[in-house]
Amino acid sequence: MHKSFDFLVVGAGFSGLVAAERLCTQHGKRCLVVEKRDHIGGNAHDCYDEHGVLIHPYGPHYFRTNSDDILGYLSQFTEWMPGNYKVQVYRDDRYWSFPINLRTFEQYIGREATAEEMEAWLKENRTDFEAVTNSEEAVLSQVGEAWYKMFFEGYTLKQWKRHPRELSPSVCRRIPVRTNRDDRYFNDKYQVLPKHGYHTLFNNLVKACGDRLEVRLNLDYKEVIANESIQWQHMIFTGPIDAYFDYKFGPLPYRSLRFEHEHFSAKALRGIEDGSSQLEGKTPSPDPHLPSSGLTHQPCVQVNYPESNLSYTRTVEAKHITGQEIEGTTIVREYPEDYEVGKEPYYPIPAAEARQLYKRYEDEAGQLDDVSFIGRLGTYRYYNMDQVVGMALKFVEKLNPFLIKHL
Ligand code: FAD
Ligand code: UDP
Repeated sequence: MHKSFDFLVVGAGFSGLVAAERLCTQHGKRCLVVEKRDHIGGNAHDCYDEHGVLIHPYGPHYFRTNSDDILGYLSQFTEWMPGNYKVQVYRDDRYWSFPINLRTFEQYIGREATAEEMEAWLKENRTDFEAVTNSEEAVLSQVGEAWYKMFFEGYTLKQWKRHPRELSPSVCRRIPVRTNRDDRYFNDKYQVLPKHGYHTLFNNLVKACGDRLEVRLNLDYKEVIANESIQWQHMIFTGPIDAYFDYKFGPLPYRSLRFEHEHFSAKALRGIEDGSSQLEGKTPSPDPHLPSSGLTHQPCVQVNYPESNLSYTRTVEAKHITGQEIEGTTIVREYPEDYEVGKEPYYPIPAAEARQLYKRYEDEAGQLDDVSFIGRLGTYRYYNMDQVVGMALKFVEKLNPFLIKHL
């Protein structure tokens, strides 16, 4: 059957779906979204595992933003709940308050302290640079060598397989440093989570488009291109830009990941409370602040592991943030992996030479009138969810009025 659309959108993540929604509902266009996975939502997808626990299968997704507009836009599709985004670091056989704050300083010196004492300590320990040019200097200039070595160097090496010296300052600057006792992971004005899960948000967004939007799953866009009975005027590509161009300048570097899931029944969790269960040879402490959702395995949603004897970087226990009332729990260990074409390109690499290679693809993309590239992979940017939503909204706003009118 012959089908004709105004837009073909490749990828059903935040960027593809938001662009499609605006085009359908604001401009009355017909869009086909094709997604090679078996679900919508891209990496922000959440789902129930085989034990009924709501998890984030592609790594933890903590929604935060400073933008009223972006939050307002997404609020059409979801209610929100507060985002209890707390992270601790596990090293030297103990948990450390993180990001670095007054509690961390107190743990470090072994007694209560004041903000003034911490500020004086930082002043004495941090290194001054004329201009900060990489992530090592970014951390040294904020907290000095001891905490750089304790919290950042090892984690960054595991995560990126690059020294912090080889990464843009922005990578480690994502992590705040505070001299008060605020131990939230982020500084953003809004730190929230979709109340009924990301999957509900995405389903509502698709529903809002009515029959102007068609979504096809388990389908690579190359199959659509090969199918002459499907036609469109303009393509919006949110997959990896180097894949679109068949890697003609060579593949862009990415970091990939492997996720390992472990479920704990309520009985097993009680075993942990008794100190009888082991995690890679270490006994995690029971959570001293049980959330209302019941027993948990670790003290907060995320624990980071900077030490090199463990090959994973973090463990995530979503139950702390979803507040799901369920007896058991699931933790997900995240193992960074080398990337090669064919694996999932989870992280674009924020480094100068990667950016230069991307620039060649970007110039090539600039030559095309009938394809636009947006999103984290389409523009090769280490962007958060709110940033790609903002990018998709702006993209549609700025789309050539001629194109919008005449399609
Ligand atoms: P994606 O979500 O990657 O969607 C692109 C889609 O295109 C994918 O579904 C893919 O399958 C599809 N696709 C690719 N190629 C093809 C093809 N050939 N044919 C058809 N479909 C194709 N952001 C936050 O704000 N907070 C967080 O806490 C956070 N944590 C993160 C943790 C991890 C481990 C990762 C990797 C990212 C995290 N992010 C977080 C970033 C967040 O995932 C992204 O900003 C956002 O999901 C990007 O949306 P997108 O639509 O641009 O890309
Ligand atoms: N980082 C670190 N130690 C930590 C947490 C983060 O060295 O305990 C560094 C690391 O380089 C990481 C970056 O800070 O890639 C950004 O951390 P974030 O938690 O924001 O990473 P993401 O959630 O994007 O993977």
